[in-house]
Amino acid sequence: MDEFSLIKRYFERPSVASVQANAQLIHGIGDDCAVLEVPHNQDLVFSLDTLVEGVHFPVDVNPADLAWRVLGASVSDLAAMGATPNNFTLALTLPELSASWLQSFSENLATAAQQYQITLAGGDTTKGPLTLSVQVQGFVDKGTALLRSGALVDDVICVTGSLGDSRAGLSLLNEAISTPAHDYLLDRFYRPVPRISTGRFIRHFASSCIDISDGLLADLGHILNRSGKGANIDSRLLPLSAALREVAAENALDWALSGGEDFELCFTLSAQNWQRLEQKLKDTGHPIAITKIGVISGTLGLQIYRDAQWHKVAATGFKHFSR
Ligand code: ADP
Ligand code: MG
Repeated sequence: MDEFSLIKRYFERPSVASVQANAQLIHGIGDDCAVLEVPHNQDLVFSLDTLVEGVHFPVDVNPADLAWRVLGASVSDLAAMGATPNNFTLALTLPELSASWLQSFSENLATAAQQYQITLAGGDTTKGPLTLSVQVQGFVDKGTALLRSGALVDDVICVTGSLGDSRAGLSLLNEAISTPAHDYLLDRFYRPVPRISTGRFIRHFASSCIDISDGLLADLGHILNRSGKGANIDSRLLPLSAALREVAAENALDWALSGGEDFELCFTLSAQNWQRLEQKLKDTGHPIAITKIGVISGTLGLQIYRDAQWHKVAATGFKHFSR
């Protein structure tokens, strides 16, 4: 099988590409470029993510998990901007041609794409060390994309879902134990769920937003840098899952603060908008928990309340090329 029959067989199948084709996508896979009609009064929001074997995911990860992980992590960037996913392109670098690998990967990619309502519009296929790049594209109403730079003094700081689970899952990769808590944490590592509906929901309330890929402290640090503000976080308020407390009680708080890849959202909003948002969450039964964890301050730097006192913290998270 060569590159072209591979694309046709695994990625151009109707179940993968055209069944989900949306109105904006005029031409998808098969031409030199895909053609997209940009809707009137919308802004195009796009981003690119690369996953390298052994760096971003374990060697010999199963292709089903890899498909969910690469798409979930990529779509999370759209969620952080308050955007609605539309289409993505996939650059796939494979060391060898394995039909069973491709079958499982492409099927799971299609299921994930269906779930996130995003269409595979094209890509590139090459031979080399296993690497995946996904470019996602989405839309927001003109001028309404959520940015990192809008946090104001006295804004409330919130996070979605629970923190530290993915880092706990990473610590369990080589353990052969299976309990509901272990399985939940591994799932949080392998199959992060992008907070698409929450991103859209908070768009009219939030002053800034980011998705947590490098850890809460590091990513909140990006909001603070871009906004020129500081923050006070109360560690007692951090949302920790029951599974995290059960499996890793002593590490739970550190992992919630600094563990990466939960792909939850961290956002800020005025105290008044927080009240409005809380009411609206109740009224609509929004399925994702949103927890207030601190307040933006005019004093630069990040302070955290922990062990009965305030500590100054350096925003640390995962960085490539750092020692
Ligand atoms: P070109 O040589 O002009 O770049 P290719 O031969 O690489 O075109 O790709 C042919 C078509 O298949 C293009 O529409 C491209 O977007 C699509 N394609 C290639 N690889 C993939 C992939 N892994 N997933 C989805 N579409 C792909
Ligand atoms: Mg070409």
